[in-house]
Amino acid sequence: MLLSLIKILAFVAAVAGLTWGAARLTDVTGGAEIAMAGYEVTLGPLQLVLAIALLALLGWLLFKALGLLLALLHFINGDDTAVSRWFSRSRERKGYKALGDGLVALAAGEGEAAMAKGRKAERYLRRPEITSILVAQGAELVGDRKTAEGAYRDLVKIDRTRFVGVRGLMRQRLAEGDTDTAMKLAQKAFELKPRHVETQDTLLRLQAEAHDWSGARATLEAKRRSGALPRNVVRRRDAVLALSEARDVIDETASIEMREKAIEANRLSPDLIPAAVMAARSYLAVGNTRYATRVIRKAWEAEPHPDLAQVFAEIAPEEDAQARLKRFSVLLKARPDHSETRMLEAELMIAAEQFNEARRALGDLVETDPTARVLTLMAAIERGRGADDAVVRGWLTRALTAPRGPQWVCENCHNVHPHWEPVCSNCHAFDTLGWTRPAESGTTLPRGTEMLPLIVGGGVGRAEAPVPAVAEVREAGATASPLPARDAAASMPRTNGDKEMDEAEIVVPQGDNTAARSEAEVVTEGRK
Ligand SMILES: [Zn+2]
Repeated sequence: MLLSLIKILAFVAAVAGLTWGAARLTDVTGGAEIAMAGYEVTLGPLQLVLAIALLALLGWLLFKALGLLLALLHFINGDDTAVSRWFSRSRERKGYKALGDGLVALAAGEGEAAMAKGRKAERYLRRPEITSILVAQGAELVGDRKTAEGAYRDLVKIDRTRFVGVRGLMRQRLAEGDTDTAMKLAQKAFELKPRHVETQDTLLRLQAEAHDWSGARATLEAKRRSGALPRNVVRRRDAVLALSEARDVIDETASIEMREKAIEANRLSPDLIPAAVMAARSYLAVGNTRYATRVIRKAWEAEPHPDLAQVFAEIAPEEDAQARLKRFSVLLKARPDHSETRMLEAELMIAAEQFNEARRALGDLVETDPTARVLTLMAAIERGRGADDAVVRGWLTRALTAPRGPQWVCENCHNVHPHWEPVCSNCHAFDTLGWTRPAESGTTLPRGTEMLPLIVGGGVGRAEAPVPAVAEVREAGATASPLPARDAAASMPRTNGDKEMDEAEIVVPQGDNTAARSEAEVVTEGRK
């Protein structure tokens, strides 16, 4: 739009300039006299200028004619293609010039110019496999979907550029959100170029999103064959896919074959916690507690995780707290120094009402890694030991603003997920969820933190040593995440699940432990 406006303005300016120049020349007196072979011509200034222009044109034509004459001579001498070459050479030159200009325009980010040059080059060169790429790229640059699509369709028709065309169309469909067509195009592109890494990844992602797990495993296998992924990553991803395949069906009908898939996934990647959890549940479903125990123990040795402890508790749901403590010793011994193991031990001890042992199990976690879960456990321990209400509330207050500890976090977009998923629900990346600590956002409960000491009342100030001081509460709030961990709520019922822990259950907010809820609980407690 702007370009054509500039063109029109330039044309008007050129015409005006020429007219003005011509008018000036007619005003000028004098001229030139040319005497040649007895003829004498007198030229006015304007005629002189025109004559010079004509002469230049004649010279150029003569030069061209000479080239043609030379080609003709070659032709007469027996070079059959000399004349046609002379003509095509000049076309070619113009074509490649246009092509070159188009590439420069593309690199300069001038999409419109690139498209125009691409079309011009096509007129001279008749090489759509090159010029269509230029047009398509230029159209993509200015967001002209229709032109780009037309160019990609032209490219699909040519053998050499079929892949480029299919890929271009696929990316357009992906951008539009038409995943069904995009998947078909991705499959086509994959057939054309099975070793193309981007196509493999796109297809894998689309298949995982569409829950086409067996298709995704085939793509992964192709990826492994092309050597694009390290072996251990392939094994892990295959485990994720096998697991997803199993999980989809377990939801409906848990056939033996599907359970075996989960177990296979666990065999492929024993440190994949969801696989271990599902494998153990599969064994439990057929009453094989020995194998279920073994699966959990092996996974715990690789990576202690609350989900594993939960399934381990499900092995014997009816046992009392003492029996449970005894049975869990297998896990507690496996990784005794891991913070997850220490928190699990503390939880079990609280359930067994051995509060001093629970405090000992936590060790220095309160100082070194005071997550919401650790602080909530401390509140439960203090309540169990019969501490003052204010002390318990102090710990809970701190828990409210403490970091959440490890969660299922997407490595790609850092979204936090409540459960493990094969595909991130936010950025749709495949196999990116890891059990890590989410980046603390730095935002806090804006009013809440400042209000907390007031809500809790004078109790905090009056309390003894183990209670965090008001300043400390504020300090924790400065770096903590706005939401306390769901684990704080889930930690206790998860492993005890029994009735013998009345004391702790009063302290720990149950169910959906959002900030607002916890705050409300603190308020109610404060009013008692
Ligand atoms: Zn993500």
